[in-house]
Amino acid sequence: MSQVRVRMAPSPTGLFHIGSARTTLFNYLYAKKTGGKFVLRIEDTDQVRSAKEYEEDIIRCIKWLGFDWDEGPDKSGAYGPYYQSERLQTYRDHLDILLEFGHAYYCYCTPQELEAEREQMRKDRQSPKYSGRCRHLTDQEKQAFEAEGREKVIRFAVPAKQLSYTDLIKDEISVDTGLYGDFVIYKSDGTPTYNFACVVDDHLMEISHVIRGEDHISNTPKQILMYEVFGWDLPAFGHIPLILNED
Ligand code: GLU
Repeated sequence: MSQVRVRMAPSPTGLFHIGSARTTLFNYLYAKKTGGKFVLRIEDTDQVRSAKEYEEDIIRCIKWLGFDWDEGPDKSGAYGPYYQSERLQTYRDHLDILLEFGHAYYCYCTPQELEAEREQMRKDRQSPKYSGRCRHLTDQEKQAFEAEGREKVIRFAVPAKQLSYTDLIKDEISVDTGLYGDFVIYKSDGTPTYNFACVVDDHLMEISHVIRGEDHISNTPKQILMYEVFGWDLPAFGHIPLILNED
C-alpha cells in the first residue's frame, strides 16, 4: 500500500471537545503505527460560524495532548495551504469542472419556494428533499432569474442509485442516493460547503484513510458520489462512535 496519510479536519466553530480528542487520537496513532503522516487541516470556510478563538483553542488542545501533526498550520508541507479559507481558488477550479460536465448546476429557488416544495412532499407522505427543479432550466429561464437579481446556489446533480461501501468500523453500508436530493455544494456567498471542500482536499492531500466521528456517516455516500464523478480513487472510510455519556 502507498503511504498512509490521515487527517484531522476540525471546523473552528466551537471549542475542542472530548470527541475531537478521541478522533485525533485514532488518527494520530494510526499514522504512528504505520509510519504514515498525520495532517491537520482547518475547515474554516463557514465565515459566519468560524472564529479565531475556536481555531486557537483547537490548536492549543491538540498540542497539549501531544498529538503533533506532520503537516498543517505552522508546518510546511507539500499539500498546503492547510486552511480551507486559503484554498478557495482550488475549490472554484474543481467546481468549474463539475459545472462544465453537468454534474453541478445553479439553483435560483428562494427559501419560500423550497419550503413550499418540502411542505407539499410532507403532505404527499414523501420524505422532503429538493426536487431538482432547477436542474434543467433553459437559458431563457436562467436569464430571467438573473435579471430578477435572485440569489443562487450551486447544487450537485446527484446520480440516483444504490451505493454501497465497506466502512472500516461499521462494515457494509448501503444507501439509496435517490433519497438525498441535489444538495448544495456552493453557497450564495460563493463559498463551498463542507461536503465539497472536504472531498477536493482529501483527494488533493492524498488522504488514504478518512477516520472521523460517526456524525459524518450520512455525508460519506454524498462524498463518494463526488469522488466517482471526478473519477478519483476512494480513500478508506472509518466512522468511530460518538461519546455521548457524561462520564
Ligand atoms: N470539519 C468537519 C468537522 O469538524 C470535519 C469532518 C471530517 O472529518 O470530514 O466535523
